[in-house]
Amino acid sequence: MERIAVFPGSFDPITKGHETIITRAIPLFDKIIVAIGVNAEKPGFFPVEKRLQWLKDVFAKHPSVEVDSYTGLTVEYCKQKNAGFILRGLRTSADFEFERSIGQVNKKMYPSIETIFLLTTPEHTALTSSIVRDIIRHNGDITPFVPEEVKF
Ligand code: ADP
Repeated sequence: MERIAVFPGSFDPITKGHETIITRAIPLFDKIIVAIGVNAEKPGFFPVEKRLQWLKDVFAKHPSVEVDSYTGLTVEYCKQKNAGFILRGLRTSADFEFERSIGQVNKKMYPSIETIFLLTTPEHTALTSSIVRDIIRHNGDITPFVPEEVKF
């Protein structure tokens, strides 16, 4: 059976932290679907189409990485895609507490799915999409924090 992982998130925008987690996970899975969870009540900072395009550009050279968006429950999306794994990154103990409850509830809803966590690389521990958005709002330079394909 193919090992398919979904990496769900907002990617608003994708950061070097996300990029590193996905790149490190490539050898672990036959396919990784980087999927933007769309919530109609929270439109986000960048339009979903732009976020999708950046993800496609960043992983253009990696045929096992697909990019998509979805609405609704992540586990339902995983079922649709025949994905047995959810991939997430862990930065801090706060991430752990948040991820633990989501991961345990997801497991209850869909017992055959496993959530796999990769620890962030130390240099990306402080990096969040929301900090990147703040830098953009104040006209700062985001190039150290995002993949070079993220341009607007
Ligand atoms: P959310 O929409 O849940 O806030 P994000 O879209 O920011 O999540 O991130 C999706 C996933 O990427 C999460 O598992 C998050 O922990 C991980 N992640 C975010 N930033 C980093 C980073 N700097 N290093 C490693 N993982 C990260």
